[in-house]
Amino acid sequence: MASFLCYCGSGKAFISCCDPLICGVAFAQTPEQLMRSRYSAYCHHDKNPQCYDYILQTYHSKVRPEHSQSDIADFAKAVRFIRLKILDDASLTTNQVHFVATYLVGDKLEVLDEVSDFELEQGHWMYCSGVLIKHPSMKLSRNDVCPCGSGVKFKKCQHPLQACN
Ligand SMILES: [Zn+2]
Ligand SMILES: [Zn+2]
Repeated sequence: MASFLCYCGSGKAFISCCDPLICGVAFAQTPEQLMRSRYSAYCHHDKNPQCYDYILQTYHSKVRPEHSQSDIADFAKAVRFIRLKILDDASLTTNQVHFVATYLVGDKLEVLDEVSDFELEQGHWMYCSGVLIKHPSMKLSRNDVCPCGSGVKFKKCQHPLQACN
């Protein structure tokens, strides 16, 4: 597989960033790493169906029953994540991550702005839940420059990976 920059925006190659976590050969050392890998799993799902199970299994067991692989797959297939930003708020605890993920649903640009809570379970970081900060969705017209950063018009954009940072 060709080496490409990780979806999560770390600047590292996917194969040495989030991929080993998704494949279960390494574990997240911090809540932020887990959050990044779950984001990357949503981006990479069409190339590795293991991504759905990874997202499910990295929910804390106390909330996992509220989720299912099919719900996760439906969401992953309906959206196109284009950017992740991790915010370093002074108010966060060591169990929290504030992130802003931008994604497309059809011709709408949505922003998922969330302060997430994580907990250790049997020595591994798990995602529990998050508090959302609401943003209005933005409708894109076909001639707008795509918000993914490619510089290409929305109607023609393929959202190249290297533009996803
Ligand atoms: Zn990554
Ligand atoms: Zn694009």
